[in-house]
Amino acid sequence: MAEQQGAPKSDHFIAKIIREEIAEGRLLTGPVTRFPPEPNGYLHIGHAKSICLNFDIAKTFGGHCNLRFDDTNPSKESEEFVSAIEADVRWLGFDWGPETFFASDYFEQLYELACELIRNGDAYVCDLTADQVRDYRGTLTEAGRESPFRNRTVDENLDLFARMRAGEFADGSCVLRGRIDMAAANMNLRDPALYRIRHCAQHHQTGEQWCIYPMYDFTHPISDALEGITHSLCTLEFEDHRPLYNWVLDHVSVPCHPRQIEFSRLNLEYTVMSKRKLTELVTQGHVDSWDDPRMPTLAGLRRRGYSAASIREFCRRIGVTRADNSVEMGVLEDCIRQDLNVGAARRMAVLRPLKVTLENYPEDETEWLTVPEHPQDPGMGSRQIPFSRVLYIEQEDFREQAPRKYKRLVSGGEVRLRYGYVIRCDEIVRDATGEICELICHYDVATLGADPEGRKVRGVVHWVSAEHAVAATVQLYDRLFTVAMPEAGGDYLSTLNPQSLDSLNGCFLEPSLAEALPGQAYQFERTGYFCRDSKQGENDVPVFNRIVTLRDSWAKIVRKG
Ligand code: ATP
Ligand code: MG
Repeated sequence: MAEQQGAPKSDHFIAKIIREEIAEGRLLTGPVTRFPPEPNGYLHIGHAKSICLNFDIAKTFGGHCNLRFDDTNPSKESEEFVSAIEADVRWLGFDWGPETFFASDYFEQLYELACELIRNGDAYVCDLTADQVRDYRGTLTEAGRESPFRNRTVDENLDLFARMRAGEFADGSCVLRGRIDMAAANMNLRDPALYRIRHCAQHHQTGEQWCIYPMYDFTHPISDALEGITHSLCTLEFEDHRPLYNWVLDHVSVPCHPRQIEFSRLNLEYTVMSKRKLTELVTQGHVDSWDDPRMPTLAGLRRRGYSAASIREFCRRIGVTRADNSVEMGVLEDCIRQDLNVGAARRMAVLRPLKVTLENYPEDETEWLTVPEHPQDPGMGSRQIPFSRVLYIEQEDFREQAPRKYKRLVSGGEVRLRYGYVIRCDEIVRDATGEICELICHYDVATLGADPEGRKVRGVVHWVSAEHAVAATVQLYDRLFTVAMPEAGGDYLSTLNPQSLDSLNGCFLEPSLAEALPGQAYQFERTGYFCRDSKQGENDVPVFNRIVTLRDSWAKIVRKG
């Protein structure tokens, strides 16, 4: 076994452990890992960390990574989530091979292995109520008490377990428990539940075949072993479950004993990562859907315009450790900015339009200007943009009276139109309410594309030709929450940011953007990186999402505030 040529360079503590195992001759095949989502929601950026870790380890050391659905709780799971998860893992750039695994594929084997535990005196059917079980369990400082059902005979237990399966008992009336140690310091070893009764559910894979479902702590180690997993990588909250993971594998007949290694989960500032909370955001309508571009889900980030490469790069940068951590949103934004600064074609788009009429420009003329797709990368080629008598510029690029430092258009002043002419503002037109609604300007025919000698122009502004412009809605996003750690306090919903979405109707884009495809990112000059949304807006106008601003202006605001 050796490290693979051209594979991702993994140098975190888990890669080191595997290198050691290889060096000591303890790992004779490539490592087999797995990504084991429960299909009870969409994947989020935290899952991406786990996906990258598991698939990269497999690739680096010439092994394999399985995709396995941990589908033992049918009441919260669905086929919709199964397909969404598969699509997300594939989109992120990983291939788990021809077979997709489901823990539910092992229900029959799990049942048999539970019977093996019973036959060996390692499990029993317990009729205590949930409240009683809690009561008998003891505390961290006090040993638990043994259940009065703990010493049922093997035959009685086998019979009761078979009747649990046959549907004779109501939900909650009994459970199968491991017979381990009610005085164990580790509470997880105090006769944990292994199977429970769930009649209601129609399971998305097994239909009505089962009314008893194995618990995670029983299912997970056995699924790992049946698939020949060598390293079961999971987040730190499972550290206390490791003794139980090992106990299960030591007490049933399975082909191998995978090694569980824990790492710290990703927390990202200004968002939440718990699936329960993400589900609430969707079901209570705080966001539109699981793929709302404000969500930290992979589907949301994709719709927003994040590339898979930028998310993989993010996971590489944050690394894999055992330290508790909370990552700044700026780190994620930086990854996509770096990606887009190189790859995204430039476009002009006016988000809050102000009409400009060039009084000395011919009425019916259109000039098509040839401008670069990317000013620093001539290899990306060029595009044509129309110039004509009536244009739009940004409202904020004009001031009637402005401080000396203001570099854009002022009354009587000059500004250069990006790639176009220098114009001078001669007259301001107001509407009935006194608002400025149009500027009457002059253009200087001698100034196309270049600055004539000695001419002092205050600045350069972007623009679009009114006659040719594409009308669009542009969505500007802000953090979903107003505090860095919404989960730290009690009520995370009270910290939702009411201004997380600013939807601008009546924006005007240069005409080539009519053909923009969802997922294709552009830099709109001076306003940020944008990507067409997968859904059309009202009246069928295209919608564009701002992926990220050009610079991290947000960090500055926070510091000032
Ligand atoms: P929740 O606890 O919110 O219900 P979960 O984390 O248990 O969700 P799973 O579908 O069980 O969700 O997760 C699949 C895998 O992804 C698990 O191995 C889990 O450890 C890992 N994972 C989940 N969240 C994170 C995170 N924030 N950072 C790193 N890994 C994560
Ligand atoms: Mg889980």
